[in-house]
Amino acid sequence: TPDVTPLVAGNWKMNGTRASLDQIKAMAEGVKGPLSKKVETLLCPPATLLYVATALCDDSPLMIGAQDCHEKTSGAHTGDISAEMIADCFGTHVIVGHSERRTDHCESDALVRAKAEAAHAVDLVAIVCIGETGDERKEGRTLEVLKTQLAGSVPDGATAENTVIAYEPVWAIGTGLTPTAADVAEAHAFMRGELTARFGGEGAKMRLLYGGSVKPGNARELMGVANVDGALIGGASLKAEDFLAIYRAY
Ligand code: PEP
Repeated sequence: TPDVTPLVAGNWKMNGTRASLDQIKAMAEGVKGPLSKKVETLLCPPATLLYVATALCDDSPLMIGAQDCHEKTSGAHTGDISAEMIADCFGTHVIVGHSERRTDHCESDALVRAKAEAAHAVDLVAIVCIGETGDERKEGRTLEVLKTQLAGSVPDGATAENTVIAYEPVWAIGTGLTPTAADVAEAHAFMRGELTARFGGEGAKMRLLYGGSVKPGNARELMGVANVDGALIGGASLKAEDFLAIYRAY
């Protein structure tokens, strides 16, 4: 998208211990340099590593975010973390509505929207994930699913600054399967149209990431598709070498 700075974001999911901090250090070092003026980078480690990760990235353009937040600001919600807690650890972003949370924790579009609003309230960027299942694609319902999820999960207060959309076909996550470039182009053009209709100029420049089996070997092709403004990377973000190779594909 013209005039939009791409974002390469990693999602470690439920992976990573103190032993993995060397990978974060290597990423923080690897993204120093002129390319960082043109491409933003973000890593979302598990919440247990958030605070130490932001300290490691103190002098690096690598930003640190979380993988989920609760929709409320505080209170009796054992095991959950609030958006404010993420901001307090110097996190800048939070992923909301990842398909694994929609499935494992039965998260609805309304809940995802409330989580994005909680993120915005403390000036975090919300990365709102949407995407069709394999069955929905086979039934030809992909665009209809994206329309419903965008309408339901993205808050009215979304701007190009505070919101990133990640298109992640559920069947492509962790499977090694990817849609064709033409399929990605169709989905992203559709999302761009929906967001522009609802948010005007903000929708026209909101970042749209592609996620689902992005690897060093396919990053250039996928990132080159029209309306793809970066990647959300699971498995290939665990090793600094792979994450940096995808970043350098730009
Ligand atoms: C993800 O979980 O956001 C993801 C895209 O995973 P992977 O890259 O492993 O398919």
